[in-house]
Amino acid sequence: MYAPKDSKKPIVPVRLDLDSTICFSCDKDLACFTKCCHNNSTFLTPYDIIRLKQRLQMASDEFLLTYTTPGKVEASDLPVPMIRLVEEKNNACPFLGEDGCSVYEDRPVSCRYYPIAAGLFHNFDISDNESFFALVKEGHCLGHGLGQEMTIAQWRENQGIPPYDEHNKGWVEIILRRKSLGPFVEIPEKTLQMFFMACYNLDAFKRFVLKSNFLKIYNISQERLEEIKTDDVALLQLGYDWLMTTLFGAGRLELIEQVVEAEQIEVD
Ligand code: SF4
Ligand code: SF4
Repeated sequence: MYAPKDSKKPIVPVRLDLDSTICFSCDKDLACFTKCCHNNSTFLTPYDIIRLKQRLQMASDEFLLTYTTPGKVEASDLPVPMIRLVEEKNNACPFLGEDGCSVYEDRPVSCRYYPIAAGLFHNFDISDNESFFALVKEGHCLGHGLGQEMTIAQWRENQGIPPYDEHNKGWVEIILRRKSLGPFVEIPEKTLQMFFMACYNLDAFKRFVLKSNFLKIYNISQERLEEIKTDDVALLQLGYDWLMTTLFGAGRLELIEQVVEAEQIEVD
């Protein structure tokens, strides 16, 4: 799922797993320092956006407008925000500062994985979270062969990746479900908008939950309601549950009985 930052660049065609080892180290003193932050195609996952918008103290819609450009999930019609490069600065990432990444502690998961491309099997069953990886070797990157050998599992820990994979799991599940429908099933525009709002524009999704007839349709406990008002991760999880329920009938949210009886379920 986490593709190389620039898919036109070569990927060494070796499939790796969590126990495979790599030898890689990135250092400010290398001549290639920050080259990987130019001319790349970095997509943002839902949890990337939460971390970045919180760091920059921006609302999600403002963040998306300022820093992203529309993209599509590979081999799918589902939207994904891509980091918008700064043309006047040699197509640099907007978060690149003079000393390197200015959002380092909250950098996107694809930056954390680099030089590894990570993916999930494209079958539908992700319950075992079986992952595969590949090593990306780009000509300009001088970090290969440096530093201590470590397994991919150690690399993931070292780069702070586990919470990203954990909080993006619901997003991956929705994408794989959509892919399992095949390319000939057209997704209506309104559905694409729902997906975009619930996965990426969380502040808009919160307004939607609190101000539309959402709470008249779905039985959301008071405790959960209070949680989503202040916790973006809890709000994101509600978004995943809503999408799985409305798009795929997965029943993750309970309908309020009177609404079911009236058989008039309409989301504004
Ligand atoms: S977010 Fe940071 S590490 Fe990632 S491309 Fe931008 S500057 Fe580089
Ligand atoms: S070693 Fe690779 S990842 Fe590190 S700065 Fe150089 S190009 Fe970027």
